[in-house]
Amino acid sequence: MTELLGLDEAELRQQAEAWGLSAYRGTQLYHAIYKEHRWDFNAMTNLPADLREQLSQRATITLPRIVSRYPSRDGAIRYVLQLPAARNPVTIETVWIPEDDRQTLCISSQAGCAVDCRFCATAQLGLVRNLTAGEIAGQVLAVLDVHKEELHPRTNVVLMGQGEPLHNYDATLKAVRLLNDPKAMGIPLRRITLSTSGIVPGIERMKQEEIRPKLAISLNASNNEQRSEIIPVNRKWNIEALCNALRDYPLRRWEYIMFEYVLLGGFNDTLEDARRVVKIGSHLKCKVNLIPWNAVPSLPFQSPTDEAVLAFQQVLIKAGLKAFIRRSRGQDVFAACGQLSLLEINTNTELN
Ligand code: SAH
Ligand code: SF4
Repeated sequence: MTELLGLDEAELRQQAEAWGLSAYRGTQLYHAIYKEHRWDFNAMTNLPADLREQLSQRATITLPRIVSRYPSRDGAIRYVLQLPAARNPVTIETVWIPEDDRQTLCISSQAGCAVDCRFCATAQLGLVRNLTAGEIAGQVLAVLDVHKEELHPRTNVVLMGQGEPLHNYDATLKAVRLLNDPKAMGIPLRRITLSTSGIVPGIERMKQEEIRPKLAISLNASNNEQRSEIIPVNRKWNIEALCNALRDYPLRRWEYIMFEYVLLGGFNDTLEDARRVVKIGSHLKCKVNLIPWNAVPSLPFQSPTDEAVLAFQQVLIKAGLKAFIRRSRGQDVFAACGQLSLLEINTNTELN
Protein backbone atom coordinates (compact mmCIF):
# COMPACT_ATOMS: atom_id res chain seq x y z
CA MET A 1 0.00 0.00 0.00
CA THR A 2 1.28 3.47 -0.85
CA GLU A 3 0.58 6.31 1.58
CA LEU A 4 -0.47 9.41 -0.35
CA LEU A 5 -0.79 11.99 2.43
CA GLY A 6 2.24 14.28 2.28
CA LEU A 7 2.96 13.77 -1.43
CA ASP A 8 3.02 16.97 -3.47
CA GLU A 9 1.54 17.43 -6.91
CA ALA A 10 4.68 16.35 -8.81
CA GLU A 11 5.00 13.23 -6.64
CA LEU A 12 1.35 12.31 -7.07
CA ARG A 13 1.67 12.72 -10.84
CA GLN A 14 4.73 10.46 -10.81
CA GLN A 15 2.88 7.94 -8.69
CA ALA A 16 -0.05 7.95 -11.08
CA GLU A 17 2.30 7.26 -13.99
CA ALA A 18 4.02 4.50 -12.04
CA TRP A 19 0.58 2.88 -11.76
CA GLY A 20 0.15 3.18 -15.54
CA LEU A 21 -2.36 6.04 -15.26
CA SER A 22 -2.21 9.41 -16.89
CA ALA A 23 -0.25 11.99 -14.84
CA TYR A 24 -3.38 14.10 -14.75
CA ARG A 25 -4.90 11.61 -12.28
CA GLY A 26 -2.16 12.70 -9.87
CA THR A 27 -3.29 16.29 -10.13
CA GLN A 28 -6.86 15.20 -9.49
CA LEU A 29 -5.74 13.31 -6.38
CA TYR A 30 -3.81 16.37 -5.18
CA HIS A 31 -6.90 18.49 -5.54
CA ALA A 32 -9.14 15.92 -3.86
CA ILE A 33 -6.87 15.40 -0.83
CA TYR A 34 -5.75 18.92 0.04
CA LYS A 35 -8.38 21.18 -1.49
CA GLU A 36 -11.59 19.19 -1.21
CA HIS A 37 -10.61 17.26 1.91
CA ARG A 38 -11.71 13.92 0.50
CA TRP A 39 -9.70 11.16 2.10
CA ASP A 40 -11.87 8.22 1.12
CA PHE A 41 -11.32 7.21 -2.50
CA ASN A 42 -15.04 6.44 -2.79
CA ALA A 43 -15.82 10.09 -2.12
CA MET A 44 -13.60 11.26 -5.00
CA THR A 45 -16.42 11.69 -7.41
CA ASN A 46 -14.12 13.53 -9.80
CA LEU A 47 -12.63 10.09 -10.60
CA PRO A 48 -14.33 7.24 -12.50
CA ALA A 49 -15.73 4.45 -10.33
CA ASP A 50 -13.36 1.73 -11.54
CA LEU A 51 -10.35 3.95 -10.83
CA ARG A 52 -11.61 4.69 -7.31
CA GLU A 53 -11.83 0.97 -6.71
CA GLN A 54 -8.30 0.40 -8.05
CA LEU A 55 -6.90 3.16 -5.88
CA SER A 56 -8.47 1.85 -2.72
CA GLN A 57 -6.63 -1.43 -3.30
CA ARG A 58 -3.27 0.22 -3.86
CA ALA A 59 -3.11 3.30 -1.67
CA THR A 60 -4.11 4.84 1.63
CA ILE A 61 -4.65 8.40 2.84
CA THR A 62 -4.05 8.30 6.58
CA LEU A 63 -4.86 11.39 8.56
CA PRO A 64 -3.61 11.85 12.12
CA ARG A 65 -6.27 10.34 14.38
CA ILE A 66 -7.66 12.45 17.21
CA VAL A 67 -7.50 10.38 20.39
CA SER A 68 -8.31 12.99 23.07
CA ARG A 69 -9.58 16.52 23.26
CA TYR A 70 -9.10 18.94 26.14
CA PRO A 71 -11.37 21.98 25.80
CA SER A 72 -10.27 25.08 27.67
CA ARG A 73 -12.65 27.51 29.34
CA ASP A 74 -11.43 30.15 26.87
CA GLY A 75 -12.46 28.19 23.76
CA ALA A 76 -9.07 26.78 22.80
CA ILE A 77 -8.93 22.99 22.48
CA ARG A 78 -5.85 20.85 22.92
CA TYR A 79 -6.04 17.78 20.69
CA VAL A 80 -3.91 14.72 21.19
CA LEU A 81 -3.32 13.10 17.82
CA GLN A 82 -2.01 9.68 17.04
CA LEU A 83 0.15 9.38 13.97
CA PRO A 84 -0.46 5.86 12.85
CA ALA A 85 2.67 5.44 10.75
CA ALA A 86 3.33 1.74 10.41
CA ARG A 87 6.99 2.49 10.96
CA ASN A 88 6.76 4.33 14.21
CA PRO A 89 3.40 5.35 15.69
CA VAL A 90 3.55 8.28 18.10
CA THR A 91 1.20 10.81 19.65
CA ILE A 92 1.59 14.57 19.36
CA GLU A 93 -0.51 17.65 20.11
CA THR A 94 -2.26 20.28 18.05
CA VAL A 95 -4.09 23.28 19.51
CA TRP A 96 -7.24 24.80 18.02
CA ILE A 97 -7.62 28.49 18.92
CA PRO A 98 -10.84 30.18 17.77
CA GLU A 99 -10.73 33.97 17.54
CA ASP A 100 -13.28 36.60 16.51
CA ASP A 101 -12.30 36.79 12.89
CA ARG A 102 -10.20 33.70 12.29
CA GLN A 103 -9.00 30.39 13.69
CA THR A 104 -5.41 29.67 14.59
CA LEU A 105 -3.94 26.19 14.59
CA CYS A 106 -0.79 25.56 16.58
CA ILE A 107 0.87 22.47 15.10
CA SER A 108 3.82 20.24 15.94
CA SER A 109 6.84 19.59 13.72
CA GLN A 110 8.39 16.85 15.84
CA ALA A 111 7.22 14.47 18.56
CA GLY A 112 9.10 15.88 21.56
CA CYS A 113 12.12 18.14 21.02
CA ALA A 114 15.89 17.87 21.39
CA VAL A 115 16.63 21.51 22.21
CA ASP A 116 16.02 21.11 25.93
CA CYS A 117 14.97 24.64 26.90
CA ARG A 118 14.74 24.76 30.67
CA PHE A 119 11.33 26.48 30.83
CA CYS A 120 9.49 24.25 28.33
CA ALA A 121 7.43 21.13 29.06
CA THR A 122 8.06 19.60 25.63
CA ALA A 123 11.77 19.53 26.40
CA GLN A 124 11.09 16.94 29.07
CA LEU A 125 10.02 14.44 26.42
CA GLY A 126 13.35 14.61 24.61
CA LEU A 127 13.18 14.04 20.87
CA VAL A 128 10.89 11.13 20.02
CA ARG A 129 11.03 11.51 16.25
CA ASN A 130 10.67 13.89 13.33
CA LEU A 131 7.24 14.15 11.71
CA THR A 132 6.77 13.69 7.98
CA ALA A 133 5.35 16.45 5.78
CA GLY A 134 2.06 14.53 5.68
CA GLU A 135 1.95 14.33 9.46
CA ILE A 136 2.61 18.07 9.78
CA ALA A 137 0.10 19.26 7.16
CA GLY A 138 -2.27 16.45 8.20
CA GLN A 139 -2.74 18.06 11.63
CA VAL A 140 -4.30 21.07 9.92
CA LEU A 141 -6.52 18.90 7.71
CA ALA A 142 -7.67 16.74 10.63
CA VAL A 143 -8.48 19.56 13.04
CA LEU A 144 -10.12 21.84 10.45
CA ASP A 145 -12.29 18.88 9.52
CA VAL A 146 -13.58 18.51 13.08
CA HIS A 147 -14.58 22.17 13.07
CA LYS A 148 -15.83 22.38 9.49
CA GLU A 149 -19.26 23.67 10.47
CA GLU A 150 -17.86 26.71 12.31
CA LEU A 151 -14.92 27.79 10.18
CA HIS A 152 -13.99 31.40 9.48
CA PRO A 153 -12.61 31.99 6.00
CA ARG A 154 -9.26 32.97 7.60
CA THR A 155 -6.96 30.32 9.04
CA ASN A 156 -3.61 31.03 10.68
CA VAL A 157 -1.09 28.29 11.24
CA VAL A 158 1.75 28.58 13.73
CA LEU A 159 4.54 26.00 13.95
CA MET A 160 4.73 26.49 17.70
CA GLY A 161 3.59 23.12 19.01
CA GLN A 162 5.97 20.35 19.91
CA GLY A 163 9.36 20.39 18.26
CA GLU A 164 12.03 22.58 16.74
CA PRO A 165 10.91 23.00 13.12
CA LEU A 166 14.40 23.82 11.84
CA HIS A 167 15.64 20.48 13.20
CA ASN A 168 13.16 18.90 10.77
CA TYR A 169 13.74 21.31 7.95
CA ASP A 170 12.80 19.45 4.78
CA ALA A 171 9.54 17.96 6.05
CA THR A 172 8.49 21.25 7.63
CA LEU A 173 9.12 23.35 4.52
CA LYS A 174 7.39 20.76 2.35
CA ALA A 175 4.38 20.88 4.68
CA VAL A 176 4.40 24.69 4.41
CA ARG A 177 4.26 24.41 0.61
CA LEU A 178 1.25 22.08 0.87
CA LEU A 179 -0.45 24.44 3.30
CA ASN A 180 0.25 27.42 1.06
CA ASP A 181 -0.28 26.18 -2.51
CA PRO A 182 -3.53 27.72 -3.83
CA LYS A 183 -4.15 24.39 -5.60
CA ALA A 184 -3.84 22.61 -2.24
CA MET A 185 -4.83 24.19 1.08
CA GLY A 186 -4.38 27.80 -0.01
CA ILE A 187 -3.30 29.42 3.27
CA PRO A 188 -1.42 32.67 2.51
CA LEU A 189 2.23 32.80 3.63
CA ARG A 190 1.54 35.81 5.82
CA ARG A 191 -0.72 33.51 7.87
CA ILE A 192 1.87 30.78 8.44
CA THR A 193 4.54 31.36 11.10
CA LEU A 194 7.52 29.18 11.91
CA SER A 195 9.04 29.67 15.35
CA THR A 196 12.61 28.61 16.07
CA SER A 197 14.86 28.55 19.09
CA GLY A 198 17.55 30.04 16.81
CA ILE A 199 19.07 27.30 14.65
CA VAL A 200 21.25 29.55 12.48
CA PRO A 201 21.98 27.11 9.60
CA GLY A 202 18.23 26.59 9.23
CA ILE A 203 17.64 30.36 9.16
CA GLU A 204 20.30 30.62 6.45
CA ARG A 205 18.51 27.97 4.40
CA MET A 206 15.19 29.77 4.85
CA LYS A 207 16.68 32.83 3.13
CA GLN A 208 16.89 30.83 -0.10
CA GLU A 209 13.32 29.53 -0.04
CA GLU A 210 10.85 30.80 -2.56
CA ILE A 211 7.88 29.63 -0.48
CA ARG A 212 8.78 30.84 2.98
CA PRO A 213 6.62 31.18 6.13
CA LYS A 214 7.01 34.14 8.48
CA LEU A 215 9.86 33.77 10.92
CA ALA A 216 9.57 33.99 14.69
CA ILE A 217 12.66 33.75 16.89
CA SER A 218 12.49 32.68 20.52
CA LEU A 219 14.86 35.23 22.01
CA ASN A 220 13.78 34.72 25.61
CA ALA A 221 16.82 36.37 27.19
CA SER A 222 18.63 39.68 27.02
CA ASN A 223 22.25 38.52 27.14
CA ASN A 224 24.23 35.42 26.28
CA GLU A 225 24.91 34.24 29.77
CA GLN A 226 21.21 34.23 30.58
CA ARG A 227 20.22 32.74 27.22
CA SER A 228 22.74 29.88 27.40
CA GLU A 229 21.39 28.99 30.80
CA ILE A 230 17.85 28.42 29.50
CA ILE A 231 18.37 27.60 25.77
CA PRO A 232 21.38 25.30 25.36
CA VAL A 233 21.72 25.95 21.58
CA ASN A 234 22.77 29.50 22.48
CA ARG A 235 26.22 28.07 23.22
CA LYS A 236 26.47 27.12 19.56
CA TRP A 237 24.71 30.12 18.02
CA ASN A 238 24.64 33.04 20.40
CA ILE A 239 22.66 36.28 20.21
CA GLU A 240 25.27 37.95 17.95
CA ALA A 241 25.33 34.98 15.56
CA LEU A 242 21.54 35.07 15.50
CA CYS A 243 21.39 38.81 14.82
CA ASN A 244 24.02 38.49 12.07
CA ALA A 245 21.91 35.86 10.38
CA LEU A 246 18.85 38.09 10.68
CA ARG A 247 20.42 41.31 9.48
CA ASP A 248 20.19 40.46 5.77
CA TYR A 249 17.10 38.27 6.09
CA PRO A 250 15.03 38.92 2.96
CA LEU A 251 11.86 40.32 4.53
CA ARG A 252 8.84 40.94 2.33
CA ARG A 253 7.20 44.38 2.40
CA TRP A 254 4.58 43.28 4.91
CA GLU A 255 6.92 41.24 7.05
CA TYR A 256 8.70 41.74 10.37
CA ILE A 257 10.99 39.41 12.28
CA MET A 258 8.92 38.36 15.25
CA PHE A 259 10.91 38.02 18.46
CA GLU A 260 9.25 35.98 21.15
CA TYR A 261 10.35 36.75 24.67
CA VAL A 262 9.09 34.45 27.41
CA LEU A 263 9.09 36.45 30.63
CA LEU A 264 10.37 34.39 33.55
CA GLY A 265 9.62 36.14 36.84
CA GLY A 266 12.80 37.35 38.55
CA PHE A 267 15.01 35.86 35.82
CA ASN A 268 14.75 37.91 32.63
CA ASP A 269 11.97 40.40 33.34
CA THR A 270 13.76 43.45 34.78
CA LEU A 271 13.92 46.93 33.24
CA GLU A 272 17.60 46.34 32.58
CA ASP A 273 16.67 43.26 30.55
CA ALA A 274 14.16 45.33 28.63
CA ARG A 275 16.81 47.92 27.78
CA ARG A 276 19.12 45.20 26.48
CA VAL A 277 16.28 43.82 24.33
CA VAL A 278 15.90 47.32 22.88
CA LYS A 279 19.55 47.22 21.84
CA ILE A 280 19.11 43.83 20.19
CA GLY A 281 15.92 44.81 18.39
CA SER A 282 16.75 48.33 17.34
CA HIS A 283 18.93 47.23 14.39
CA LEU A 284 16.27 45.00 12.91
CA LYS A 285 12.82 45.40 11.38
CA CYS A 286 11.14 43.49 14.15
CA LYS A 287 8.22 43.17 16.52
CA VAL A 288 8.48 41.72 20.01
CA ASN A 289 5.86 39.41 21.50
CA LEU A 290 6.13 39.24 25.27
CA ILE A 291 4.83 35.93 26.59
CA PRO A 292 4.34 35.68 30.36
CA TRP A 293 5.66 32.23 31.28
CA ASN A 294 2.95 29.58 31.50
CA ALA A 295 3.44 27.48 34.54
CA VAL A 296 4.69 23.95 34.08
CA PRO A 297 4.54 21.90 37.26
CA SER A 298 8.00 20.59 38.12
CA LEU A 299 9.91 23.42 36.41
CA PRO A 300 11.75 25.87 38.70
CA PHE A 301 10.44 29.15 37.26
CA GLN A 302 7.80 31.69 38.14
CA SER A 303 5.36 33.62 36.04
CA PRO A 304 6.14 37.35 36.00
CA THR A 305 3.89 39.82 37.80
CA ASP A 306 1.50 41.89 35.68
CA GLU A 307 3.38 45.03 36.71
CA ALA A 308 6.69 43.61 35.49
CA VAL A 309 5.14 42.60 32.15
CA LEU A 310 3.63 46.06 31.59
CA ALA A 311 6.77 47.89 32.67
CA PHE A 312 8.89 45.73 30.34
CA GLN A 313 6.55 46.50 27.43
CA GLN A 314 6.67 50.23 28.18
CA VAL A 315 10.47 50.33 27.93
CA LEU A 316 10.30 48.69 24.50
CA ILE A 317 7.51 50.93 23.23
CA LYS A 318 9.16 54.12 24.49
CA ALA A 319 12.31 53.14 22.59
CA GLY A 320 10.24 52.83 19.42
CA LEU A 321 9.90 49.06 19.23
CA LYS A 322 6.62 47.38 18.41
CA ALA A 323 5.92 45.29 21.49
CA PHE A 324 2.86 43.21 22.32
CA ILE A 325 1.83 41.11 25.28
CA ARG A 326 0.69 37.68 24.22
CA ARG A 327 -1.39 35.97 26.83
CA SER A 328 -1.51 32.31 25.91
CA ARG A 329 -4.83 30.59 25.42
CA GLY A 330 -5.74 27.23 26.89
CA GLN A 331 -3.64 27.38 30.06
CA ASP A 332 -6.19 25.48 32.12
CA VAL A 333 -5.81 22.41 29.87
CA PHE A 334 -2.04 22.69 29.35
CA ALA A 335 -2.58 23.80 25.76
CA ALA A 336 -0.62 27.03 26.12
CA CYS A 337 2.87 27.80 24.77
CA GLY A 338 5.44 25.49 26.25
CA GLN A 339 2.97 23.28 28.06
CA LEU A 340 2.63 20.56 25.45
CA SER A 341 3.84 17.25 26.78
CA LEU A 342 0.86 14.92 26.65
CA LEU A 343 -0.28 15.61 30.20
CA GLU A 344 -3.38 13.62 30.98
CA ILE A 345 -5.86 15.62 33.01
CA ASN A 346 -9.38 15.21 34.24
CA THR A 347 -11.18 17.23 31.60
CA ASN A 348 -10.13 14.62 29.08
CA THR A 349 -12.97 13.57 26.81
CA GLU A 350 -12.04 10.27 25.26
CA LEU A 351 -13.10 9.89 21.67
CA ASN A 352 -13.73 6.65 19.89
N1 SAH B 1 10.53 25.07 19.26
C1 SAH B 1 10.11 26.30 18.72
C2 SAH B 1 8.61 26.41 18.61
C3 SAH B 1 7.77 25.85 19.73
S1 SAH B 1 7.76 26.67 21.25
C4 SAH B 1 10.65 27.44 19.54
O1 SAH B 1 11.16 27.22 20.63
O2 SAH B 1 10.59 28.58 19.07
C5 SAH B 1 6.75 28.11 20.94
C6 SAH B 1 7.06 29.27 21.87
O3 SAH B 1 6.67 28.97 23.21
C7 SAH B 1 8.54 29.62 21.92
O4 SAH B 1 8.72 31.00 21.76
C8 SAH B 1 8.94 29.22 23.33
O5 SAH B 1 10.00 30.02 23.80
C9 SAH B 1 7.67 29.45 24.10
N2 SAH B 1 7.55 28.71 25.35
C10 SAH B 1 8.10 27.53 25.69
N3 SAH B 1 7.75 27.18 26.94
C11 SAH B 1 6.95 28.17 27.40
C12 SAH B 1 6.22 28.37 28.63
N4 SAH B 1 6.24 27.46 29.60
N5 SAH B 1 5.49 29.51 28.75
C13 SAH B 1 5.42 30.40 27.74
N6 SAH B 1 6.05 30.24 26.57
C14 SAH B 1 6.81 29.14 26.40
FE1 SF4 C 1 11.98 22.73 21.87
FE2 SF4 C 1 10.86 25.15 21.50
FE3 SF4 C 1 10.46 23.78 23.79
FE4 SF4 C 1 12.85 24.83 23.28
S1 SF4 C 1 10.92 25.96 23.59
S2 SF4 C 1 12.44 22.75 24.06
S3 SF4 C 1 12.98 24.55 21.08
S4 SF4 C 1 9.77 23.17 21.76
